[in-house]
Amino acid sequence: MQVESKLLVVGWFHSHPNLGAFFSGTDRKTQRDFFFHPYSTGYVVDPVRDEHAFFLGAESFQIPEDKVTPVHAAVLSRVESAMACEASSRGK
Ligand SMILES: [Zn+2]
Repeated sequence: MQVESKLLVVGWFHSHPNLGAFFSGTDRKTQRDFFFHPYSTGYVVDPVRDEHAFFLGAESFQIPEDKVTPVHAAVLSRVESAMACEASSRGK
C-alpha cells in the first residue's frame, strides 16, 4: 500500500449489512496481517441493524462502547458521512 509520506494509515473499515457488527475470523486475520500496530483500528458497521464496533491492535481487542474516544467518534462520523454520500450517489 503506497501512501503520501505525510499520511499515516490508522485502520480500516467495512460493512456487514444485516449480519451484525462483529469481527469474523477473516476480519481478525486482516487486522493481524495488515493493521497490527497498537493504534491500528478496525471499524465494522451494520447499517441495517444500526450497529457498529471498533477493534484495536493485532489481537482485535473490541473497544467497549463507553471507552470509544472522541477520535473514534470522529472516525465514525466520517464513515457515516461517506456511506450516506455513497448511498445517495447509488440512488441517482
Ligand atoms: Zn467482516
